[in-house]
Amino acid sequence: MRKVFRDDHEMFREQVRRFVEREIVPHHAEWEHQGYVPKSAWLKAGQEGLLCIMAPEEFGGGGGDYGHSAVLIEELARANATAVGFTTHSEIVANYIVAYGSDPQKENWLPKMISGEMIAVIAMTEPGIGSDLRSMRTTLRRDGDDYIISGSKTFITNGFNSGMAVVACKTDPAAKKLTLVCVEDGTPGFTKGQRLEKIGLKGQDTSELFFNDVRVPITNRLGEEDKGFGYLTHQLAWERLIIAIRAAASIEALLDETIEYTRSRKVFDQTVFNFQNTRFSLAAAKAEATMLRAFVDECLGEVMEGQLTPEKAAMAKLMGSEMQGRLLDQFLQLHGGYGFMSEYKVARAWVDARVARIYGGTSEIMKEIIARTL
Ligand SMILES: Cc1cc2nc3c(=O)[nH]c(=O)nc-3n(C[C@H](O)[C@H](O)[C@H](O)COP(=O)(O)OP(=O)(O)OC[C@H]3O[C@@H](n4cnc5c(N)ncnc54)[C@H](O)[C@@H]3O)c2cc1C
Repeated sequence: MRKVFRDDHEMFREQVRRFVEREIVPHHAEWEHQGYVPKSAWLKAGQEGLLCIMAPEEFGGGGGDYGHSAVLIEELARANATAVGFTTHSEIVANYIVAYGSDPQKENWLPKMISGEMIAVIAMTEPGIGSDLRSMRTTLRRDGDDYIISGSKTFITNGFNSGMAVVACKTDPAAKKLTLVCVEDGTPGFTKGQRLEKIGLKGQDTSELFFNDVRVPITNRLGEEDKGFGYLTHQLAWERLIIAIRAAASIEALLDETIEYTRSRKVFDQTVFNFQNTRFSLAAAKAEATMLRAFVDECLGEVMEGQLTPEKAAMAKLMGSEMQGRLLDQFLQLHGGYGFMSEYKVARAWVDARVARIYGGTSEIMKEIIARTL
């Protein structure tokens, strides 16, 4: 029993695990093949109470805390259920609405997001701008009681399936300040590109979004004008911890898988596990995974108490994602040729893990954030 979790978290884990085994694992390969998760799966997750678990109960949410979110993230990672983009919708975008939304915005969007009827996305990255968010080009122009948005976004998780996008824009293209505005699917001028072809996360839809003089009422603005960068920075610490939580859970699951595989595979009249190279690799991996777990749980405890700093979250993301990439590569090697076969969990996990060092801020950006505090 990990100290950071309470009994209610562990009970929730049992529920999530059953749902993942019943409703996700059997369909996962099909979703990877088609390149997206059908809306019916979102609705089932909504019915089960697994979407937007931290949203307040008055809007139909679970009223949970970061611990419940972490349980969900871990269970999806353990099952290698990478097609499912629930986390971005539930653990990131819903948090923006809860934290910065007005009461009418919460009443309008949260119930639909909680039920799975509306999939919400966060659109920051642009074709020309990723790491340097303050230099983005999407503009927001005031016209009476409306805003007019012009620009484009790319690499948006769940973009193709989305019902609403929280879009980062600039009121003054020359300034470094950002404003967050919500744009619903169907708003004239708002269009979606095709699902982007990726080397991994094949079941997760990732798309471009285009805003061609899109008119939305100023009441669609999230929080205050020009304060968006601060909102993003505040949420990014949690967003980065999510990637570390996922890395820790994935390493543990694949370590178990590799121990089992190497114990069952015989080469030169002995098991692969029996070679000193294998046992030493797995022992070192176990030691690293145990240290990562301790640090990630400490960060989780801090986020639950509202004390996680951006630099500590950056350390967790940096170390977690780099370790995940390195260890999964070793685990794959210990599987031999089977490690390269898509039907083996380690093969898919290895490909899917690559992006962890890129999205949510690259490893280099994590080092920048940490370096600034030295
Ligand atoms: C599968 C996937 C899903 C994504 N989902 C979303 C989403 O839902 N919403 C969203 O808004 N974005 C999303 N992204 C975008 C993601 O956050 C960006 O790709 C990421 O922040 C990097 O930006 P970039 O791709 O423009 O790379 P660039 O910023 O062009 O970086 C290129 C290289 O330069 C390096 N570099 C940049 N700045 C520095 C520096 N100061 N010092 C040293 N090196 C530097 C980078 O580390 C990198 O190696 C997603 C991306 C992927 C791949």
